[in-house]
Amino acid sequence: MNSANKLAVIGGTFDPVHYGHLIAAEHARVELGIDKVVFIPSARPPHKANEKVTDWEHRCRMLQLAIEDNPAFEISSLEGPQRGISYTIDTIHSLQKANPERKIYFVMGADALLTIDTWKDYRQLIDLCCFVVVTRPNYTLDRSHPVLAALPEHWWQQMKQVEIPLMDISSTDIRRRVASGKTIRYLLPDAVREYILQNNLYRGGMIS
Ligand code: ATP
Ligand code: MG
Repeated sequence: MNSANKLAVIGGTFDPVHYGHLIAAEHARVELGIDKVVFIPSARPPHKANEKVTDWEHRCRMLQLAIEDNPAFEISSLEGPQRGISYTIDTIHSLQKANPERKIYFVMGADALLTIDTWKDYRQLIDLCCFVVVTRPNYTLDRSHPVLAALPEHWWQQMKQVEIPLMDISSTDIRRRVASGKTIRYLLPDAVREYILQNNLYRGGMIS
């Protein structure tokens, strides 16, 4: 299969986007020979229903600043605010319809796979796309973990595991750092850091 027949996607809250996301996307892309990665920010992530999430528009603008120097990266508004709560299964169905000739590769960190049993219709997902699980510090894919032990064997055969340079960076940590006046320089692109400062994001009440 050549690179034009493949499409990588990475979903998330991106509140804010950081180098962990960018490295995951780029390393998975190159490793699997894919020419395009679509970032899909979720306006209303189902697993963060009780948490305050920054306006989708701000998160998209930060993503735009973060990806603008990489021609292989794009942003999709498939999980934009007009859609209500967005579920990965519905998003993948829409992507598949819009790109019938492409195989979809769904990139996620190891932490995300460990919550897969909470995703809507997750058992069907593996038939719709190829899971690409990238390494993330503090999360190991130990097959005796109850969530992983429950996954059928064909999941393991279809899943790609990609080792990336381990980046102990999370949006939660970045939000906490800003709220407590600590530096976030070098954890995310400088343009995103400036955007956060200029727009007074994460200054208070966003610590989760
Ligand atoms: P939060 O702390 O708010 O949950 P996050 O840093 O985990 O933010 P998300 O937007 O939740 O970022 O993650 C989107 C996707 O990127 C998920 O699949 C997640 O596993 C992956 N990801 C995020 N940070 C990293 C990282 N440092 N290394 C590898 N994968 C990551
Ligand atoms: Mg997360």
